[in-house]
Amino acid sequence: MESTTVEIKGKSLNELCEICHSIAVSKGFWEKERNTGEALMLIVTELAEAMEAHRIQDHENFREEIADSFIRLMDLCGGMKIDIEAEIEKKANKNKNRPYKHGKIC
Ligand SMILES: [Mg+2]
Repeated sequence: MESTTVEIKGKSLNELCEICHSIAVSKGFWEKERNTGEALMLIVTELAEAMEAHRIQDHENFREEIADSFIRLMDLCGGMKIDIEAEIEKKANKNKNRPYKHGKIC
């Protein structure tokens, strides 16, 4: 199989979601309607893989699993047509106006 590359640097978050989603579609992961709960748990699985890599101090694999986590999350955003830039802006502004430690003791 011929190898191809994807340009990532300089892309917006929404563009990255589209790229990750289109790759997942091209690999057959969206042929049937996605189960959202399963998609979310697959993101957690990638984070668990990152945790294991951290535990055994495999720094290269840690970075790869963090990337996997983002890729799966962005694929989901792309597939669900979530404008993640708008959502992050809304939530970051909400967080910015919350009290120190969001008003919690610890
Ligand atoms: Mg992985």
